[in-house]
Amino acid sequence: MLPDIPAPALRLGFDPDALRANWQALDRLSGRARAGAAVKADAYGVGARQVVPVLHAAGCHDFFVAHWCEVPDLLDLAAPGSISVLHGPLNDADVAFARASGVKPVINSLEQARRWLAAGGGRCDLMVDTGMNRLGLAMDQIGDAVLAALDVDVLISHLVSADEESDLNAVQCGRWRQACAVIPHARASLANSAGIALGSDYHGDLTRPGIALYGGIPRPEMADMIRQVVRPQAAILQVRTVAAGDTIGYNATFTAPAPMRVGTVALGYADGYLHFWSNIGGFHADGLDLPVLGRISMDMTGIDLTNAPHLDEGDWVTAEYALPEAALATGLSQYELLTVLGRRFGR
Ligand SMILES: *Cc1c(COP(=O)(O)O)cnc(C)c1O
Repeated sequence: MLPDIPAPALRLGFDPDALRANWQALDRLSGRARAGAAVKADAYGVGARQVVPVLHAAGCHDFFVAHWCEVPDLLDLAAPGSISVLHGPLNDADVAFARASGVKPVINSLEQARRWLAAGGGRCDLMVDTGMNRLGLAMDQIGDAVLAALDVDVLISHLVSADEESDLNAVQCGRWRQACAVIPHARASLANSAGIALGSDYHGDLTRPGIALYGGIPRPEMADMIRQVVRPQAAILQVRTVAAGDTIGYNATFTAPAPMRVGTVALGYADGYLHFWSNIGGFHADGLDLPVLGRISMDMTGIDLTNAPHLDEGDWVTAEYALPEAALATGLSQYELLTVLGRRFGR
C-alpha cells in the first residue's frame, strides 16, 4: 500500500466570504429581482462544488450550467428544479436525463419544445434570442402555438453588449418584454452580471450573474462592490543566487543586473499561468512584491526573492491575479483568466 498521495505544491486560494458578499451585492443591485448564478464550466474554473454550497446558503436558488454532464456534480448540493441546462435538450438522451433528474432544460428552439412535449414535458426554461444570434427562439417564432403548451418557469434572453454603452441594450430589452407579453411564463430573466448595472428595466424577476460573482468587474461602476475570490498560490521548489549577467529561464529573456536571489515556484502555463505573464507577472508574500523573472515554463515560474531573504523552499507565494488588472496586463478577458486555470489546482 502506498502512503497518501502528497498534496500538489499549488492550490487555488478561495475566499468564500468574498463570494458570498459578491452574490449579496449583486442580489441587492438586482432590486426586486432575485439573483441566480451562472456556474457553468465548473463555476468559471473556481470549482462548482465549493461555490454552490456558499451561494445556496446565501439564498441563491437558481443555478445555470451549460452541459448536461455538469449536472451530476451539483445534484447533492442544490434541488434539481433549481438547476437549468443552457444548451438545452438536443436529443432523446438529454430529454430522458432531464425528466429522470428533475433538472430544467432550457428550450432553445421549436423543435426542442416539441421534443420535450412529446416526452411528456414538465417544468422548463425558455431562451429567446433578442439579438445575440447564438441560441434561442427567433423573435418571429414567439407566437408559435407549441410554446403555449410548455410549462415555462424562467423566460430568458441574453444581452450582447451589457458591458458597454450600446443601443442594442435597449433594443434587446424591448424585444425581451415583447416575448414576455406573448409567452406564458412564471419568471422573466435578462441580465447577466453587467446587465444588472443597467437598471431596473433589465431586472425582471431573476438575474443571472456569473463573472462578477467570481471577482470579475464587467462595468466600472461595479468596481467598489466586487471582491477578489480566487488567487493562484504555489510553493517555492528551489532557491538559488545568481550573479550579475546570469539569465533566467527559457530563451534567456531576463538578465540579472546585479546578484539576485531567485525562487522557482510550482506554477506554470500548464496550470493556466500563461506565457503572457513572462517578465510582467508578480507574486507576493508577507506584503512583499516578488516580480516574475524570465519566461513562464510549463510547470514552473521564476520569481525575485532578493527582497525576501526569509522565504525559502517549501514556503508559499500568491500570484497577483485581480481580474480587471490581470486582463489589462495580458490582453485576455477576465472570463478567460478564470476558466484557463488548470486541473492541478485542488478545488
Ligand atoms: C454565462 C451566462 C451568464 C453569466 O454571464 P456573466 O457575464 O458571466 O455574468 C448569464 N446568462 C447566460 C445565458 C450565460 O450563458
